[in-house]
Amino acid sequence: MTHLDTVEPVAPLRAEWQRSEILIGGGWRPPEGGRTDRVENPATERAIGTTAIADRADVDRAVQAASGAFRTWSMTDARYRADVLEHLLAQLEERRELLVATTVAELGAPVRLVREDHVGLALRVLESYVAIAREYDDESRTPLGGRVLREAAGVVGCITPWNFPLYQIVAKVAPALVAGCTVVIKPPEQTPLNAYLFADAVVATELLDGVVNVLPGAGPEVGAALVEHPDVEVVSFTGSTQVGRTIGAQAGGAIKRVCLELGGKSASIVTADADFERAVRASVDSSFYNSGQTCSALTRLLVPAGRLAEAVDIARDQADLQQVGDPTDPATDIGPLVSGLQRERVERLLDRAAEYATVHRAGTRLPERGHYVRPAIVSGAAADSEIAQDEVFGPVLTVLGYDGDADAVRIANGTSYGLAAAVWSGDLTHARALARRLRAGQVAINGASPPHDAPFGGFGKSGIGRELGSAAVDEFVELKAIQEPDQPLAD
Ligand code: NAD
Repeated sequence: MTHLDTVEPVAPLRAEWQRSEILIGGGWRPPEGGRTDRVENPATERAIGTTAIADRADVDRAVQAASGAFRTWSMTDARYRADVLEHLLAQLEERRELLVATTVAELGAPVRLVREDHVGLALRVLESYVAIAREYDDESRTPLGGRVLREAAGVVGCITPWNFPLYQIVAKVAPALVAGCTVVIKPPEQTPLNAYLFADAVVATELLDGVVNVLPGAGPEVGAALVEHPDVEVVSFTGSTQVGRTIGAQAGGAIKRVCLELGGKSASIVTADADFERAVRASVDSSFYNSGQTCSALTRLLVPAGRLAEAVDIARDQADLQQVGDPTDPATDIGPLVSGLQRERVERLLDRAAEYATVHRAGTRLPERGHYVRPAIVSGAAADSEIAQDEVFGPVLTVLGYDGDADAVRIANGTSYGLAAAVWSGDLTHARALARRLRAGQVAINGASPPHDAPFGGFGKSGIGRELGSAAVDEFVELKAIQEPDQPLAD
């Protein structure tokens, strides 16, 4: 055996993943401080690329570029903006396979899911905004004849999380551009490469310089500087409730508009007459979707108390069926979590839950490397216990029993969140009535989720404002009432 046999093979590093610049005013330039950081693959724990790290001085330059571009971009016709978005879509389409490979590598999400939902959904959302821009009307009348103009609010700071790297960028940038705003994007530390590919598509689209600026960097530095910058008129943030609270307070202090898309602890209510097995299995799948790293995941399964044992058996079986492992394998259902930190957090919550509840860990063998966790079904926990109240952000489902509709609604609404919910019932009228009583921004009945142009956002501590569809454009618009005399002025 030669010493070469002992050397582990190293995957070729892609040139598109070696980045040391930031996008400001339509051009690539090094960050002011010249800093870079490595990007890791959570499945292999190895470096796959490099990202630039911007600082406060870069934020200032980027906001200046965005402010300069705003004067021209906000005056363009929405039909023109629709054409531009269509070109951007074409550029992203050209990069589709690269975006898939990049998301699998930097997030560790399973490739099947990445192709369909991460990249596929992001492109479908962008396509929906091309259509919205084509129909966009920036003027309307009130019933009493008042003329109302919809004007672009200004420069938008877009602070995005890692869980759906491309989708989160598109869901903020596209409606902002439709409204006529310009943007500065602060992508997450864990998954900056998707933002670079988005920026490449922006450059290739020949979008007016400065309309889209991209600044990877640390949240407390670049993100905070964006929130504080006096020339940023709107902050659109998705991420943790903790950071959202800080940003909301800062924006409030500066009388700045803010859109917060935060966490969730969504309930899936299965009624006695539902297709029980299908409902339970689908709820497990929802909870494990994207390796459990989804804010709208249905992480609490509510079943009639008399059928709790049956539900737990089905849920455990569904958990055992999950293939956990290599995200590049099309058969994989669950990949690693995004980081060692997230993995430790999930394991800590499960360790604590085991002290007061039953934690079933799926029998899957995990790869030796990578931030993997074994999927878990928790039963016997009280509805107000930590595991049933806190957002876990890992493949963990808590099964709870209820006693009648009022109890189901009380438990479902009994967290500080209110992002999503699901109702399963054999009686549609009953399901609709339950859906109306739920404090959640989206309710799926019998497995049908709202389409990607329906408003998405939460009640309570799940956030402020809405994403997707025309509702999201409203977040970036100022209304101006403007009136003139009914009779023209006499000469
Ligand atoms: P986070 O809130 O720490 O980060 C989200 C974004 O905000 C990142 O771009 C980050 O750099 C930036 N940021 C961090 N601190 C900031 C600050 N002080 N000012 C401005 N920007 C700042 O979230 P995370 O670390 O990515 O994930 C932690 C938890 O957040 C998860 O466990 C989960 O509960 C939640 N989360 C929710 C969503 C969602 O879609 N609602 C997505 C990802 C994470």
